[in-house]
Amino acid sequence: MKGFAMLGIGKVGWIEKEKPVAGPYDAIVRPIAVAPCTSDIHTVFEGALGERQDLLLGHEAVGEVVEVGSEVKDFKPGDRVVVPAITPDWRTSESVRGFPMHSDGMLAGWKFSNVKDGVFAEYFHVNDADMNLALLPDDVPPEVAVMITDMMTTGFHGAELADIQFGDSVLVIGIGPVGLMSIAGAKLQGAGRIIGVGSRPALIEAAKYYGATDIVNYKNGPIEQQVMELTDGEGVDKVIIAGAGSDIMKIAVEVTKPGGIIANVNYFGEGDTIPIPRLEWGCGMAHKTIKGGLTPGGRERMERFLELVRNDRVNPGKLITHKFHGFENIEKALLMMKDKQPDLIKPVVIIDW
Ligand code: NDP
Ligand code: ZN
Repeated sequence: MKGFAMLGIGKVGWIEKEKPVAGPYDAIVRPIAVAPCTSDIHTVFEGALGERQDLLLGHEAVGEVVEVGSEVKDFKPGDRVVVPAITPDWRTSESVRGFPMHSDGMLAGWKFSNVKDGVFAEYFHVNDADMNLALLPDDVPPEVAVMITDMMTTGFHGAELADIQFGDSVLVIGIGPVGLMSIAGAKLQGAGRIIGVGSRPALIEAAKYYGATDIVNYKNGPIEQQVMELTDGEGVDKVIIAGAGSDIMKIAVEVTKPGGIIANVNYFGEGDTIPIPRLEWGCGMAHKTIKGGLTPGGRERMERFLELVRNDRVNPGKLITHKFHGFENIEKALLMMKDKQPDLIKPVVIIDW
């Protein structure tokens, strides 16, 4: 079969691979809608996870089941399914402890385009189908459901990690598709003021649509200064980081009130350390909590998020700015994520087999 791969750090291309085989609990799925992720760019062009050779890329997909293992109970060939970016091994101690995204090792619940071939292929393998797949309801278009698999679950995880309370002031740094979903998640969880940080007009407009009350353009001056001005020198209760490089942690700590939480869902692709500023962190005594997390995945979470979409609580379809038809356009869509043009939020590729 054909697939689009990371050939090595900095190199991508189409390759031929063996069609995957389903174990007793697994499924083989053929994609019907896929999207590239900024994480694919960190992985390939920054070599953020280390060397990978001929690894098929992609971890955001909706597809059709073509084969299931003998022990799969809830899915059959022909079913249209939502495939989460994170497909944990549920029978592991990490999953029992509540961290399925780290099942079998740190970040190892993230399998597609990390530890095994991804979804940019004619067929892909899903481990533990009954626990990881969700049926696609007829009233949710495949391309909208693709936005749930990673963007919505990751952005919302930012809001979960930040433990948003009614009336919280929240700063969301980075308003790409992930940050936009953090804004939507923070709003649903009851945030008061939500300040979004970004610069591209398309993102700013979308940030307001999803619930940002204020915008800080980081190109117009230091973020910390602008946030302090907006908040009369008080800072914010919560910060969600969904963009920028690792130096952003300094700013996040600075603008967080004592007792506040900094929740990172950004994938820091470069550098050996993430600096925390000593004084702003109260010489270590400020009660400013720093958290960071890979999104949870799995079936139950996808089903819950589908309910949010079906009941008009959030519309992740608004993230889609570019829609392509045809498998071969995966390459174009992925490269768009590298050189983000001003009007890009998220591209999607629909595959009509
Ligand atoms: P985008 O590149 O689309 O968006 C990044 C945002 O950050 C943009 O708004 C950009 O501004 C802003 N930004 C860039 N530089 C700065 C800066 N110096 N200061 C402030 N803001 C800045 O990314 P995505 O939304 O697609 O993804 C965000 C991150 O989440 C990525 O690192 C991705 O890899 C990661 N991720 C993490 C996952 C997880 O499970 N934790 C899963 C999926 C993704 P501008 O408006 O100028 O473009
Ligand atoms: Zn991703």
